[in-house]
Amino acid sequence: MSKAQQHDNFINGEWQPASDYSTNTSPSNLDDVIGSYAHASTDEAEAAINAAAAASSEWARSGLEQRKAVLDFIGNELIERSAEIGLVLAREEGKTVAEGTGEVYRSGQFFQYYAAETLRQMGEFADSVRPGVEIEVRREPVGVVGIITPWNFPMAVAAWKVAPALAYGNAVVLKPAESVPASAWILAEIISRSGLPAGVFNLVMGSGREVGEVISTSPKVNAVTFTGSVPVGRHIAANVMANMGKIQLEMGSKNALVVLNDADLDLAVQCAINGAFFGTGQKCTASSRLIVEAGVHDEFIERMVAEMAKLKVGDPLAEGTQIGSLANEAQYQQVLGYIDSAKAEGAKLVAGGEALELNPKGYYIAPTLFRDTTNDMNINCEEVFGPLACVIKADDYDHALAICNDTEYGLTAGVITQSLARAAHFKREAKSGCVMVNLPTAGTDYHVPFGGRKNSSYGSREQGRYAAEFYTVVKTCYSKPY
Ligand code: NAD
Repeated sequence: MSKAQQHDNFINGEWQPASDYSTNTSPSNLDDVIGSYAHASTDEAEAAINAAAAASSEWARSGLEQRKAVLDFIGNELIERSAEIGLVLAREEGKTVAEGTGEVYRSGQFFQYYAAETLRQMGEFADSVRPGVEIEVRREPVGVVGIITPWNFPMAVAAWKVAPALAYGNAVVLKPAESVPASAWILAEIISRSGLPAGVFNLVMGSGREVGEVISTSPKVNAVTFTGSVPVGRHIAANVMANMGKIQLEMGSKNALVVLNDADLDLAVQCAINGAFFGTGQKCTASSRLIVEAGVHDEFIERMVAEMAKLKVGDPLAEGTQIGSLANEAQYQQVLGYIDSAKAEGAKLVAGGEALELNPKGYYIAPTLFRDTTNDMNINCEEVFGPLACVIKADDYDHALAICNDTEYGLTAGVITQSLARAAHFKREAKSGCVMVNLPTAGTDYHVPFGGRKNSSYGSREQGRYAAEFYTVVKTCYSKPY
């Protein structure tokens, strides 16, 4: 591979050659090599942390308009180049070009939103209980924020963490998932031209066990925000807490879409297909459990099977493709393994259930639907993270709600109903961080909080103004001015 195709880490304002590189290949076209990307050593990760620590005080004191200009620059460029960058994202992750373009556009919106938020950083003022004493409550940057991201939304997750980190005056060390460095590298390249002082943003591409471990164990990193799997999240949390750092975790889920007898079934099927299969089902908000009330159970399945047969699965770069490939070989093997184990548990396959040999060659699996499943089957307890959904029959609404809440996870939950009373009850009683009524469980906005309960999330919420809770620390100042 030529030197020109090598993509270095960005440390202390410079592109720094790494001790090692790895090849990034498309999961949807195994002949498509995207490039060679740095595989950082632990020393290179330390260098990035040191650069961020050295730069953090100056950025913490930076002017709000300076921060706003930097964030606007990044956001505007992401939006202007969303089609071009979206194509690279689609190549490296396996999602369709439309999904990749949408993700880059949304990433730009995160930066634009937090650009505006820089000017809305207000404190509080109070009189003391002691006469003549005044109190200010202000928020200050945390310092150095370590950002560790997964492969399924390689640009958007980085954006929704980097943007508020910078907006609230922190320095950043970003480590993307190993299989998707290209999106993070493009983001870093834009940031490198944004006017941000050297060292405030650093990119270290590499493995979780090496680079991620250095970030989560470093006493110089004041806060770590992580999106990924539950076991890794638990491990990182223990590391960070050993240094009394701040921690924010967004992890897996087993989201339910509840379809009631009074549902508009066309809408129910549309929401189920969107939530379960788009993005190849590799969304933490995917509807993997379809809980259907007995009265519409059989008809719902019939309509699902008919609509699934129309889905266009294939090359994510081809016109009209709706569902691309799995994101990597490990994920592909994992989903095929779950298909086998679901059959062994007694689930009845009604659609898909097989790997697809397509041209170009890649990790393709047909959208898969099982019926006659129960909530205690493994397939309904563990996160599959692929184009696979299971129908669970419910006797009535109360039963459906109980099944919906009977899970170790709690990110999103959805209900399809025409009853205002049921919708209102579900919004109150669903034990999840986000609730959707007559909408897919996947698909959230960028200006409001995002996060879950139970094993799905830990720490304060991401996105919108709620992000301030994680990216700042509160200081309470008392003074007796006269
Ligand atoms: P993962 O946990 O394997 O990896 C996530 C990140 O952690 C990667 O960058 C990885 O390199 C790093 N990592 C791995 N081991 C580490 C260690 N010992 N120390 C520090 N860092 C380490 O997850 P994944 O397979 O990349 O992503 C899929 C998971 O992400 C799914 O479980 C999915 O539900 C979850 N996810 C959640 C959300 C959400 O917002 N809740 C969003 C997207 C994905």
